[in-house]
Amino acid sequence: ASRFEGVSMAPPDPILGVSEAFRADKCDLKLNLGVGAYRTEELQPYVLNVVKKAENLMLQRGENKEYLPIEGLAAFNKVTAELLLGADNPAIHEGRVATVQGLSGTGSLRLAAALIERYFPGAKVLISSPTWGNHKNIFNDARVPWSEYRYYDPKTVGLDFDGMISDIKGAPEGSFILLHGCAHNPTGIDPTPGQWEKIADVIQEKNHIPFFDVAYQGFASGSLDEDASSVRLFVARGMEVLVAQSYSKNLGLYSERIGAMNVVCSSSDVAVRVKSQLKRIARPMYSNPPIHGAKIVANVVGDPTLFNEWKEEMELMAGRIKTVRQKLFDSLSAKDKSGKDWSFILKQIGMFSFTGLNKAQSDNMTDKWHVYMTKDGRISLAGLSLAKCEYLADAIIDSYH
Ligand code: PLP
Repeated sequence: ASRFEGVSMAPPDPILGVSEAFRADKCDLKLNLGVGAYRTEELQPYVLNVVKKAENLMLQRGENKEYLPIEGLAAFNKVTAELLLGADNPAIHEGRVATVQGLSGTGSLRLAAALIERYFPGAKVLISSPTWGNHKNIFNDARVPWSEYRYYDPKTVGLDFDGMISDIKGAPEGSFILLHGCAHNPTGIDPTPGQWEKIADVIQEKNHIPFFDVAYQGFASGSLDEDASSVRLFVARGMEVLVAQSYSKNLGLYSERIGAMNVVCSSSDVAVRVKSQLKRIARPMYSNPPIHGAKIVANVVGDPTLFNEWKEEMELMAGRIKTVRQKLFDSLSAKDKSGKDWSFILKQIGMFSFTGLNKAQSDNMTDKWHVYMTKDGRISLAGLSLAKCEYLADAIIDSYH
């Protein structure tokens, strides 16, 4: 008998499990719109040209494989904070930002969750309803209590702004409010600049601590600065802010696991102490982070030519997704005779579209049409081509009605 007899079977991951089911499907028509990974019009994975160039440079220089310090590559930590806040941000010049390299967005969020568990015992994290599925796992595993604030309004397929504000107001003072910096996952619905101001107002009123998850900087609008404007607005108010960053999507470095945790503090003295504790949490968890992705980011951002090329490639990726979004809307509007208003698709931003399909309808998409997607009705437009829009529109209309 096994000593592990008592170990039960874990359920498949709601997002990565979709890719497993997709691989097992033998039908030629199959379409994987589950995971948020950018594909070309030919539906192939895409390695950015600037990444290849940076890697060539690294190879030519013949760099070594020594351990990084616990906090990661200094050149990376510098550029990642500057990319997020703007190089001229006073918080950076005053030394008030504690930045450590993390294992992409997920690992950075997990570090911050451990910091919250250790230094804010009992404090709650408020997450949007719905949110990226892994947020709940991260806070559960870190033993940080969480609850949800209203975000998505199924009636309008838009933002439930009043519900959001009222739930943030209603949270115990000093709660952490998890916000998606841009391109909200899974809904694709972001607050307007005016709404961000009001969100900042209530967070300040209630002495809450804003905690941004920035996984799509540059991917929503095509502009790095515009997509960071929500975070910068909070920092400009002098608030203390947590920000997790990921380079999985905007540099296509999914498997390199490169990102960062930034804590903007009210003084440089506090920032030094916070950073020391983040390092203390990282050391027994994974000791120190991997170097390859950090070097790529540092090389791309640190070289003006490569930096400009990156921006162009990002605009290209964001542009392709916008074109596909438009084509899907056109196809749905032309084919659907029920009079349903599909314009919500055009209002959404980023990699995803929230279709409003429920679980049974999403099952129909997969079982009948071989379209793989998460059961919350989210489809990744980054995995869709212009050529497949008509087919997808047929599948959606059939599943809706
Ligand atoms: N946060 C959000 C909202 C995401 O959508 C994702 C990826 O899908 C992540 C964080 C983290 O991804 P990674 O760990 O690959 O950086």
